[in-house]
Amino acid sequence: MLGKILEYQKTEQELINLENELAKSKDREKAAEIQQTLKNQHARLVMLEDAARKINDSYAKATAKYEDYAKKLDKLEAEMQNADESKMEMYEKTYKDFAAIGASLEKDIQNIYTSVQQISKEYEDIIKKSKTDRERFDKFKAAYGALKNDREPKIAAVKAELAKLEKELETKAYMAYKQKREGNLFPVFVEVANNRCGGCRMEISASKLGQMKSNDLGIIECENCGRLIYQK
Ligand SMILES: [Zn+2]
Repeated sequence: MLGKILEYQKTEQELINLENELAKSKDREKAAEIQQTLKNQHARLVMLEDAARKINDSYAKATAKYEDYAKKLDKLEAEMQNADESKMEMYEKTYKDFAAIGASLEKDIQNIYTSVQQISKEYEDIIKKSKTDRERFDKFKAAYGALKNDREPKIAAVKAELAKLEKELETKAYMAYKQKREGNLFPVFVEVANNRCGGCRMEISASKLGQMKSNDLGIIECENCGRLIYQK
């Protein structure tokens, strides 16, 4: 009675195994992991490019400020050379204050320059690492591709076999099977083993087992896991 549907289930098991092999492939997992790393690296590069643009602006502003300062300093120095002795003290104080501004501007420029160096170093490091990661990604992707190329025709063949078997199935058994499969249950049909469900191992009462005979498919439904239990 159940012969064909059990064959169908066995064939579907083959399909599940093949599909699981692809889904659980370590190469696929690695490739996906590295792909994420590459995406993060790219995002970081975009951020660094933005930071570099901003820091270049700051650098341009700071150097312009310094050039302006240098001009004013030249002017002050020229004035000091022609100044009266009496004004010298005032000029010297001004000059001292001015020198402090210059030192502060130089420090700003130095800090900006350090930032530029840091950004460019990180940028280069990421580019270098990305290159290696890209090569690793290609390797894992190719390995997964080879597995996929091997398994896909097999999957197609098993699917064709399932379609062929489907036509030969007894309607009632097939309907029961399909309904359970929609709830993602697998395997659907299990054999009774030592008065236990062959799926979840729950013990089945004698009275429940007795219902197998009164059923035209010769099955009972497990109260625990919902599988359809048969006896050989
Ligand atoms: Zn069960």
